[in-house]
Amino acid sequence: MNISDNLNTLLQSLPSHVTLVAVSKTKPLEDLKAVYNTGHRIFGENKVQELVSKWEALSKDIQWHMIGHLQRNKVKYIAPFVHLIHGVDSERLLKEIDKQAAKNNRKIPCLLQIHIAQESTKFGLSDSELEKILSEKETYPNIVFKGLMGMASFTSNLQQVSEEFAFLKALYDRAAANMETFDTLSMGMSGDYELAIAQGSTMIRVGSKIFGERNYS
Ligand SMILES: *Cc1c(COP(=O)(O)O)cnc(C)c1O
Repeated sequence: MNISDNLNTLLQSLPSHVTLVAVSKTKPLEDLKAVYNTGHRIFGENKVQELVSKWEALSKDIQWHMIGHLQRNKVKYIAPFVHLIHGVDSERLLKEIDKQAAKNNRKIPCLLQIHIAQESTKFGLSDSELEKILSEKETYPNIVFKGLMGMASFTSNLQQVSEEFAFLKALYDRAAANMETFDTLSMGMSGDYELAIAQGSTMIRVGSKIFGERNYS
């Protein structure tokens, strides 16, 4: 298994309108450097502490994406540098990101996470919560609303996964009609990114297919 080969094979298979976030959570710096040395600059992490320490250790031209569940009290640590926050799923979190963005004199690009899976454990907004937030978007002058993110059910039922992605795409299209800053629909991981792209994804978050299986022990 060779990380840079995995990355290049994947990149060559992607349509040009799809952006790849290389999900490097739990992986050591040398694995990230292997990807960096191929020229790729977009990385995703799901834990604030790990994101900050990798940002400190690696080249400053990397675009760091926060893809995991974000706690309000940790926003301040990533606000100075984060390129895109994928998992925004509450008004309270949005308010905190807006506040920390202002403190850092920047606007922070965010994706609103929508609950599309059958499992009750996955985070995310309902469509009515989404509508409410977007109708109050002026409340958050330091946030750039870039689009939506979702995670499909963890199931081998491909029909179900496709339907969940299609649901999110329809929601995205409806919202984007009134949101001139929308340009990103983040859906698809190692196991389902092809289905996601077929349903209109513009950004995929892929970890194990590039870096190999994660070892949490
Ligand atoms: C870990 C993770 C991914 C990548 O998962 P793989 O199956 O390894 O590609 C994508 N999105 C989120 C939110 C994750 O936490």
